[in-house]
Amino acid sequence: MVDTTASKGRSLSPSHKELIEEVKRQTSQLTAINTVTAAVSQSLDLNVTLQTALEAVLSVIPVDASGISMVDETAEELVLRAQRGWKNDFVTQPMRIKLGHGLSGRAVTNDEVVVTGDLTNDPRLAVPAITNEQWQAQVLAPMHARGKVVGILSVMSRNPYRFDENEISVLRAIADQVGLALDNARLYESVREEQGRLQAVIESTADAILATDRHGNINLVNQAAEALFQLDVPSVIGRPLGDAPLPPALNKKLREVLGQEGAGTGQTFEVLLENGRALAAVLSPVYPTAHPEEQQTEGWVVVFQDISHMKEAERTRLQFIQTAAHDLRNPLAVTLSALTMLQKHIKDPTPTQTEVINIALNGINRMQDLIDDLLNLEHIESGVDLRSEQVSIPDLIQRCAFDMGPLFERREQTLALAVDQGLPMFLGDERWLYRALINLMSNAHKYTQREGTITVRGELRGADIVVQVEDNGPGIPLEAQAHLFERFYRVQRSEEKVPGTGLGLAIVKSIAEKHSGRAFVQSEPGKGSIFGLILPLQTSEEE
Ligand code: ADP
Repeated sequence: MVDTTASKGRSLSPSHKELIEEVKRQTSQLTAINTVTAAVSQSLDLNVTLQTALEAVLSVIPVDASGISMVDETAEELVLRAQRGWKNDFVTQPMRIKLGHGLSGRAVTNDEVVVTGDLTNDPRLAVPAITNEQWQAQVLAPMHARGKVVGILSVMSRNPYRFDENEISVLRAIADQVGLALDNARLYESVREEQGRLQAVIESTADAILATDRHGNINLVNQAAEALFQLDVPSVIGRPLGDAPLPPALNKKLREVLGQEGAGTGQTFEVLLENGRALAAVLSPVYPTAHPEEQQTEGWVVVFQDISHMKEAERTRLQFIQTAAHDLRNPLAVTLSALTMLQKHIKDPTPTQTEVINIALNGINRMQDLIDDLLNLEHIESGVDLRSEQVSIPDLIQRCAFDMGPLFERREQTLALAVDQGLPMFLGDERWLYRALINLMSNAHKYTQREGTITVRGELRGADIVVQVEDNGPGIPLEAQAHLFERFYRVQRSEEKVPGTGLGLAIVKSIAEKHSGRAFVQSEPGKGSIFGLILPLQTSEEE
């Protein structure tokens, strides 16, 4: 601050006067810059900022007109975006000047302030129509943002005017403030446009979408979700995803999945609604794009697809296969009874007759097995009619052992059970779990030598129930193990030919997967094999 009281009553020395003048000048410069800065930083709307900037500039520099051109980097042009005090409209059909051309184009490429006097006949003008404006004086000041020239701020006078040094440096400073504000507004606008585009995509997609913030509260419901679940959007926004007014089966599933360990990697699940519709859902965490390494989620997105029509198509396909299988089985049954009759009618069959009849009987049995297995596989893979019931795994193992007992006895094989009787109930389809275990036990029986030992185990491992069938049979070469669960795959063995379809393990795998689990094998040639099912308990909790 300058102490002016000290100078009261006596005349100031010339150096004092100069000092005071300088301070006044600098203060008014700063005020001018502040006025513009304050004005342009009030809005993030590009058009508002442009107009405010022009107005603010004219309020601090005593001239007639001002303009703002911005660099279009793709077209390498300078485009007039706003004008004030001009006679002609150069904005509606924007005036475009190639960078490096004309006075302003050059001001950009050379990054310099250009000050001119009478422009009425200036040959350097890139757009001759400008001469109509009859500018007598002009300053073109480059605007900077993010370290480069983003446009030009211009001020013009219709009367001869000499811009002094101070005004030019003020304009230079103002241009940068305006450049920064415009750049921010432009960035904000492009983010908003991007957001709008995204919003339009989200709204127009046929899939129903719900999104949440990082606390799991809903912050987005698209039109498809609104229609599918008949949601009152305003009352849903802000509610926890698991408490949203969605069908109860879906709510339950969402709560379950969100509460699960490992939910952070996303989940896919299907739900059958009370109205018979089936939905497939994909729940994914959203990570900040700028810092994907930060494992802190920004929220969740759930995309629902109505798969009722797909389920219907699967049902129709299954019906067709069932009908076809039935039609195939009928003639087989007829042939079988004819052969049995023939067998009874031949009193003393010759060895050849017996052999022919046996070959025919075997063929029919194999054909029947194949039809049954194909049908089973189609059925389980379609997921149609899959039940969700409380299954006691120890009881299931016991039942399979009872049903298979006579077969084991026939080959003098020992069947041992090692089952944890305290296993929790498992939520699944008992018929299919029975089928899976029977397939594993019947393989152990078929491929293990007479007097071999087969052990069935049932135990809890972490959150999984593990059921295993272990034998001391021939084992399986490592290279074959990877293919065992493929359809029609059978290990080539030189020894005795065991009848089979090559579908049993594919069925086991499919059953395990339909229960969110998996099937596995561990085997060592010459020592034996362990086949098993891993059945995760999570989905069966609190039922
Ligand atoms: P299938 O028994 O009808 O041939 P599977 O899909 O049940 O069909 O089994 C595929 C193949 O895996 C069998 O052909 C057999 O070679 C082998 N395999 C399955 N279980 C055992 C086992 N316990 N011991 C040895 N090999 C086995």
